[in-house]
Amino acid sequence: MPSDTNGVHSASESQTTAHTNGHPNAKTTAAASTTASKPRTGIAYAPAPESVKVDIADHYGHFIDGRFIEPKASRKSDDASFATINPATEAVITRVAQGTESDVDAAVKAARAALPKWSALPAVERGKYLFRIARRIQERARELAVLETLDSGKPIKESRDIDVPLVAAHFFYYAGWADKLEWVYGRQPAPVGVCGQVIPWNFPLLMAAWKLAPALACGNTCVLKPAETTPLTALRLAEILQEVGLPPGVVNIATGDGRTGAAIVNHAGIDKVAFTGSTDVGKKIAKATAGSSKKLTLELGGKSPHIIFDDAAIDQAVEGIVQGIYFNQGEVCCAGSRLLVQEGVISEVRKKLELRLASLRVGDPMDKNTDVGAINSKQQLDTINRYLQLGQDEGAELCSPSTSTLPSKGYWCKPCFFANVQPSHTIAREEIFGPVLSLMSFRTVEEAISKANNTPYGLAAGIWTDKGSKVLEVAKKLQAGVVWCNTYNKFDPASPFGGFKESGFGREGGVHGLRAYVKL
Ligand code: NAD
Ligand code: MN
Repeated sequence: MPSDTNGVHSASESQTTAHTNGHPNAKTTAAASTTASKPRTGIAYAPAPESVKVDIADHYGHFIDGRFIEPKASRKSDDASFATINPATEAVITRVAQGTESDVDAAVKAARAALPKWSALPAVERGKYLFRIARRIQERARELAVLETLDSGKPIKESRDIDVPLVAAHFFYYAGWADKLEWVYGRQPAPVGVCGQVIPWNFPLLMAAWKLAPALACGNTCVLKPAETTPLTALRLAEILQEVGLPPGVVNIATGDGRTGAAIVNHAGIDKVAFTGSTDVGKKIAKATAGSSKKLTLELGGKSPHIIFDDAAIDQAVEGIVQGIYFNQGEVCCAGSRLLVQEGVISEVRKKLELRLASLRVGDPMDKNTDVGAINSKQQLDTINRYLQLGQDEGAELCSPSTSTLPSKGYWCKPCFFANVQPSHTIAREEIFGPVLSLMSFRTVEEAISKANNTPYGLAAGIWTDKGSKVLEVAKKLQAGVVWCNTYNKFDPASPFGGFKESGFGREGGVHGLRAYVKL
């Protein structure tokens, strides 16, 4: 069996014994255990490991002013660098630099110095750079997908078929806007200036694309900080920026944890802050930038309602539910984590969901057959496990019908759902950010709408019904930035994305996504 450069792969392949159940406290339901004890098809899939090799250096410095900076201090020293690990094996992949205030200062200065020329470049020329980046991403797509999966734990079929294609699509999309801004705004708008962009670990490269592509199209320069658990694809993107000859300083990438993020946010040379991550950190950033001239957009968490009406096509709806909450291990800000099912169909939905969960394959993210990969970090797994315990303590029933055997190392959580959930339960109110669904019922359309809106968040929502008029009526009344109808978790660069209430403000994607990066 082929193994990748780190040998991480072969390690995970051989560790398939240990835990039989991810949730020591799970009460497996009768229906689920029947499913579990009877293999339904008798077909066992052979492993299908991804075999593309990816070269990874043993350490990485920041990318500033067009080149990689060799870290000054000893690279093993604790505070000068940190390890990024493969959450599916706990193996160290490599070490990256922990950005200090002076590193951030150097990055901001490089961005500032690059701004006059970059913003004065004819828009059509800026567009050409973006097109080149997009094409190079396509050419190196497989490598980027493997690296993303290694560093984040997401299944290779998702990084390969969803993340990376969307990354390229995003650069293509904003490349097309670069020379049409005059058409959008009636005159050529000025860029905002130097943008500080702090992103999370759930869609590492895609979030980098969401931040960089519109900023560059509008003539801004950037300082980007990837999340500390997933810095590698942003650094690989830096190589691509070098390959396409992007002028030095236009994009700078500083790695590090929240301290590096705070140094970017607080730097006086930053004109605009764009942040995606937790609501807690978002609130801190809002405070830190209040009263300054810095522009701010925040894309924060969610607890999105997924509504199944009794006239819906139930089999398709169940697929939508699975797509809504188990995609990317549920580590999705717009995950459909509150399932609202109309009373008449709730037992049917529950039965079909249990059956479907039993067949989801949990395990080695590098296996092309894997549906649910590893949780991104030990810290996130601990958070999820706390909620799994809390939900049961509050009286909800945990159902975890998965039959997969989990590897003995790594951070794993079997896809599961809570039944008998009350709207007041913590698991119905707070974002868990894991493969955990809260199942609730409703009787009327009005009740569905009021339960759906009963949340401090407002990022996304889903509706399943056979009736077009009901879709329109309900979608209009839902307080959510995105409402999916008879589908869920579908993304397109042309479609704006963003939140209401505590889910943040500002829109990314579409023509709307340009607005945060221009001065009118
Ligand atoms: P986080 O908000 O702490 O981290 C997101 C990014 O912000 C990272 O790059 C981090 O280094 C940086 N950061 C942390 N503290 C900062 C500060 N004070 N100033 C500036 N930047 C700072 O998120 P997390 O701890 O990785 O995840 C915790 C929770 O956040 C999750 O459980 C989930 O609920 C939520 N989350 C939401 C999204 C989303 O897409 N909306 C993404 C990831 C996490
Ligand atoms: Mn990692």
